[in-house]
Formats: sequence, C-alpha cells, structure tokens
Amino acid sequence: MSASPDGSRKVTIYMPDSIGFVERLEVFGDDLTVVNAARVSFAKESHEFNKQDEKLVKYLAKNGHISPFFHPQIRFRLKMPIFVAREWFRHTIGFSRNEVSRRYVDTRPECWLSVAGIRARDAKLKQGSRPEPVENHNELLSKIGQFQKDAVEFYESLLAQNVAPEVARGVLPQSMYTEFIETGSLYAYARLCNLRLDPHAQKEIRDYAEALSQTLAALFPVSWPALTAAVQKPAEPVAEVVPAVPPAQMPAAPVAEQTAAKGFISSVLSHIL
Ligand SMILES: Cc1cc2nc3c(=O)[nH]c(=O)nc-3n(C[C@H](O)[C@H](O)[C@H](O)COP(=O)(O)OP(=O)(O)OC[C@H]3O[C@@H](n4cnc5c(N)ncnc54)[C@H](O)[C@@H]3O)c2cc1C
Repeated sequence: MSASPDGSRKVTIYMPDSIGFVERLEVFGDDLTVVNAARVSFAKESHEFNKQDEKLVKYLAKNGHISPFFHPQIRFRLKMPIFVAREWFRHTIGFSRNEVSRRYVDTRPECWLSVAGIRARDAKLKQGSRPEPVENHNELLSKIGQFQKDAVEFYESLLAQNVAPEVARGVLPQSMYTEFIETGSLYAYARLCNLRLDPHAQKEIRDYAEALSQTLAALFPVSWPALTAAVQKPAEPVAEVVPAVPPAQMPAAPVAEQTAAKGFISSVLSHIL
C-alpha cells in the first residue's frame, strides 16, 4: 500500500491491486474533541491536550464510556470490489454513505483480479482460505480475467443495443469496483476495524481496514490505540455515574454498595477533573 498526497488535504492509500483505495477527505475533531465531549459533564474544558487528558481518554475507552468518541467525524472516499463493499456496508451504526449508481453511470466497469494469488479453500476454516495460492494459479487467473473481459464487453454490447444501464448492469460480476463516500464517527470506525482486522475477516476487507486504521492512528494518536484495544476486549459493564432518578427517590443501598459506588464515582472524577 502506498500513500499519495495530492497537494490538498486529501491523502490516498492504494490497495495491493493499485485500483482500490481509501482516500481521506475531511476530518472533524481530534483527541481534544473526545476529551471536551467528556468534560462537559462537569462543565469543564481543556484547551491543550495534556497527560490528564490522555489518562481520561484511556479510561473512557477501557470502561465503555463510548459516547465522547462519537463526536469526531471522518469522511473518506473508498473504491473497492462489490463483494468487499457488501461486507463493508454491513457496518451501519454511526455511518452515512452515498455510492456511485450504475443506473446513471455507464462508464467502462473495472474488475478486481486476485493478482496476489488465487487462494485455496481451507478445509478447517469455514469462512476462510489458505494464504498460499492454488497450484494452477496462473492458468485460473488468466481464465478469470477473460471471463471478466467477456462480461464487460457483453454489458457494453447491451448498452449499444439501447438497453437501460440499470438493466444491463445485471450481467456484471461481483468483482466489479464500486465507489462511495462515507462519513463515520471515530467510534464507528473503531468497531469496524476491530471486526475487520481480525484474522477471520477476508484478506481483501482486512487490507481496507488496515489502511483506515493507519490513517486514524495518525489523526487520533491517543484515542485510536485506546479504542481499538478496548473494542477488541469488551469492557465489563460499569455502574451509571449519574443516577437516573434523583437520589432522594432512590432506595438506600446497603453500606458495602454505597462505599463501592463512592469509590467508583471519585475515580471517575479524578480522571475527568
Ligand atoms: C468475520 C466476519 C464474518 C461475518 N460473516 C457473516 C455472515 O456469514 N453472514 C452475515 O449475514 N453477516 C456476517 N457478518 C456480518 C456481521 O454479522 C455484522 O453484521 C457486521 O460485522 C456488522 O457488525 P456491527 O457491529 O458493526 O453492526 P452495526 O449494524 O453497525 O451495529 C453496531 C452495533 O449496534 C448494535 N445493534 C445494531 N443493530 C442492532 C439491533 N437490531 N439490535 C440490537 N443491537 C443492534 C450492536 O451492538 C452492533 O454491534 C460477518 C462479520 C465478520 C466480521
């Protein structure tokens, strides 16, 4: 993968196929955005990120206080094969997406080819593959390439016969690239990356998650490692910091529980204040 800044704030990371990419478009917020979203609970604000703020971010991530991580937003343009996009689009909460439409666009489609090796089925892993390619890799690669070329030519012949693009697209393979703009919260990306960086995820989607993760680690040097570690290892449920009903209406808790709750609240305060 290679990064190619184009002189603007955009940064593009190309996939091993040199066609698919992750392009960072816009960023709202940084580590301080997370800190100040948390500190507003106590009417406090930080102006420069300091050691206390770092401790707070780690504490929030570790203990499942996730809402401050919803505030930073990052916008990307992504280009990936349709079979990868099908998996990508399963991540819904915290994302907005708009995708190119082959109802309106009838430029020549591009198709993904497994140039790095046509991986063999793994007998032990239901949803995976073995890293090494099948024996007749080269022969199959050329047959797949020919199959894609035939499909694209057939598609173009349908267009030439006045078939509507929205109907003609039905003959195109799942390996065809699609492109979309996606805006997501920092937390949504952490959840996606934690699921898709896992070795059980398909290699092609892992490559995209890796590119995103590199980008976000550079932008959020404290929050990103804290969140990715926390989401991989879900936190134990924690007690509510703010009671849902006024204390006067709550039944008195046993002394041991009251002491534990006081300890918890003062530990939160020590991180936030
Ligand atoms: C390795 C791997 C293999 C997979 N294999 C398959 C497969 O074979 N078939 C398949 O269909 N999918 C498969 N998936 C997709 C998977 O089931 C999820 O849909 C996907 O990972 C998105 O998860 P998410 O937590 O980001 O979901 P999002 O939809 O973004 O939801 C985010 C979170 O919100 C909460 N949430 C969302 N919707 C609800 C709801 N309705 N009720 C309660 N809580 C909700 C959950 O806590 C969820 O984690 C696979 C995913 C992975 C990573």
